[in-house]
Amino acid sequence: MTQLNISVINTTGVQKDVVLDSAKAATLVRDFHIGSFLNGEAVPAAQWFRYSAALQRIALRESRLHIPIIYGIDHMHGASYVAGTAIFPHNINLGASFNPELARQAARATILESADLGHRWVFAPVLDLGLNAYWPRFYETYGEDPLVAATLGSAFVRELQTNTEIAPYKVAACGKHFIGYSDPRNGWDRTNALIPDQRLQEFFRPSFQAAIDSGLKSIMINSGEINSEPVHASKAILTDLLRRQMGFKGVAVTDWEDIIRLVRVQKVAPNEKEATWMAIDAGVDMAMTPYTTTFCRYVKELVQEGRLTQARIDLSAGRVLQMKDEIGLFENPMPRADRLSRVGDPALRAQAVAAARESVVLLKNENNTLPLAPDRVKRLLVVGPSADSRANLSGGWTLSWQGRSEDAYPKDVPTLVEALRREYPQAKVATLPYRDAAGKLLLAGISAAAKQADAVVLALGERPYTEGLGNTSDLTLPDDQQQLARAAQASGKPTVLLVIGGRPTIIRGVAEGTPAIIWAGLPGYGGAVALAEIISGKTNPSGKLPFTYPQFAGHITNYHHDNNENSLDLSDFGAGFEQRGAKHKSSMRTKFGEGLSYSTYTYAGLALSDSVLTGPAAKLRATVHVANTGSRPGQEAVLWFLTDEVGRIARPVRLLKHFEKSAFAAGQARDLAFDIDPLRDLSYPDGQGRPQLESGWYTLRVGSQTARFRYVSGPVASTSPKPDGTTGTVRPTGRAVPPGAATAEANAPK
Ligand code: BGC
Repeated sequence: MTQLNISVINTTGVQKDVVLDSAKAATLVRDFHIGSFLNGEAVPAAQWFRYSAALQRIALRESRLHIPIIYGIDHMHGASYVAGTAIFPHNINLGASFNPELARQAARATILESADLGHRWVFAPVLDLGLNAYWPRFYETYGEDPLVAATLGSAFVRELQTNTEIAPYKVAACGKHFIGYSDPRNGWDRTNALIPDQRLQEFFRPSFQAAIDSGLKSIMINSGEINSEPVHASKAILTDLLRRQMGFKGVAVTDWEDIIRLVRVQKVAPNEKEATWMAIDAGVDMAMTPYTTTFCRYVKELVQEGRLTQARIDLSAGRVLQMKDEIGLFENPMPRADRLSRVGDPALRAQAVAAARESVVLLKNENNTLPLAPDRVKRLLVVGPSADSRANLSGGWTLSWQGRSEDAYPKDVPTLVEALRREYPQAKVATLPYRDAAGKLLLAGISAAAKQADAVVLALGERPYTEGLGNTSDLTLPDDQQQLARAAQASGKPTVLLVIGGRPTIIRGVAEGTPAIIWAGLPGYGGAVALAEIISGKTNPSGKLPFTYPQFAGHITNYHHDNNENSLDLSDFGAGFEQRGAKHKSSMRTKFGEGLSYSTYTYAGLALSDSVLTGPAAKLRATVHVANTGSRPGQEAVLWFLTDEVGRIARPVRLLKHFEKSAFAAGQARDLAFDIDPLRDLSYPDGQGRPQLESGWYTLRVGSQTARFRYVSGPVASTSPKPDGTTGTVRPTGRAVPPGAATAEANAPK
């Protein structure tokens, strides 16, 4: 039940050292029965192999029952803690692709490049929702939508846990951080979130539930609090919700030092022994302690004192052993070195580049500034902190926890300037620093160079950070970068603004003056090539924002806000108010699900198979005709939203219920369908997770199209079994049918 960090068993005691000190490891395994270690940094595959083999030999020899170690590691976007691997876009970028196949490929690459090395427990995927743009882990999420997180997250889990190319090995995934971690009230990591039970059920549960339903073998617990209750000490969350309601059977591991934090930080336990009791009583199976063995001592004492039963210990130890068994650790505990050539496979790197191409979003393209066709460009200037940086495009969790210094990244991964030079072989692609070594701005030189160029690419945004080290109090683009952008804009030459980083930087101060803006996020090692190709037009952008891009640092709104939040501002239901002028200007820069392409897609002919759905078993098929009316091939993610027009509680203005991405040749059209299932698509949970299915009107939206239909409960109130054995309530609400609305009204004006 104890997991220790690599630093307690390596030669130096420093995390980045992947050299085993056998004596330290032997003592911990023999005397403290440690069954799991974690962490490391990117070192060559052969070194990881030697390290894991030596550690496993010690475990098999020294542990009383010869039980192998399960090694946990943060491979967050590809096998990011092994040198020379494919570094995929971070999850926020995969969310922008709306393509679950890319999440699957990221999982496959991760294990192909690490399972042989003894990395059998991957601490991914992050299943939290990116709701609070201040939160420094925003980029680790698939965005703000529960369905996107559920779909991409479960695609990742299934591939990671069922891939057979890594046979004889299997790997366990770890969904994190259960639950409600991502929406801390003040935006800082590991702080208190205020989440009503109903919202916890409706928004935060689905991604974890989908992963659990896909066989997820472990979860890691939220280090923060919900409604002031630390999740590590919450039986309501770790047992009632996770086990009873959600049906989770796997291992619940703490996050970093979180039992100790119940004492030192959250102060809900007077000492570590009490904290240990609270956490185990709440439902913890394994403690990532991660430096000390005090947990072992306290557990033993608590059992001897009769405060914890042996049966309780058996339950958790049994779950850990079961996970080890299910991934075949007993049959195949040792790593292997005969397939090391899999690491660095160019095919996987190519997939990371392909994923990056789909993962960035064209936010603005006035006067078709983009693409900048190579035959029209003779001189291109690329400036900004990310112009010549590999680290900034990769973000945190790359090679090491916080990323590394620039010179540690592989030279064969192109930076933006290098990729643009390849993309524009006939042009002079130049870059120059915008600050000197002392930090003084060098804007005169930038202005002069911009005047000489045909166009300027502004590579702005953030440097890598991870977790609390990325806490911020201001999302605004730093002043020096704003000055740089204005200096370039003043040249009168077209500027292309690339926003690089892990969360939406507020760019209001410079966005007006630039005709083209691309949200690049953290696209990984393929990012520079993808961006260069989008700028040149070789790649047609297809990403759509998986979050709402705020206009103001002081106002974060999610697309599935309630009707009464900003109702004057938001176009969904605020029609007619736009004329009131700037005061009511949208608080969103770009909405969830928006993204431009070099093609145009038209949506027409939304049709419903029926106008009324009667009873929870009824089905309704919606079809829409989507056409690429542009002259370029492209890909379009078709997003279907539903609105519950009148709810018993205030309902979201719209919720994504289905999405599908497909390729369209120039001029190609196809019909796409969404089969509406009342319980899945129309109901919402109450605070106990019981589905509420309300009779009344619903609006369906896809592209420019809308249609309305009615749900009426059948003559007999229906029930649906839940994993916890309770039954869901499906009942009519008795609310009024909107006047004059008796049948489905495709495209009826609201
Ligand atoms: C993070 C986890 C991570 C763990 C192990 C924690 O600080 O919150 O996401 O898996 O460290 O490195």
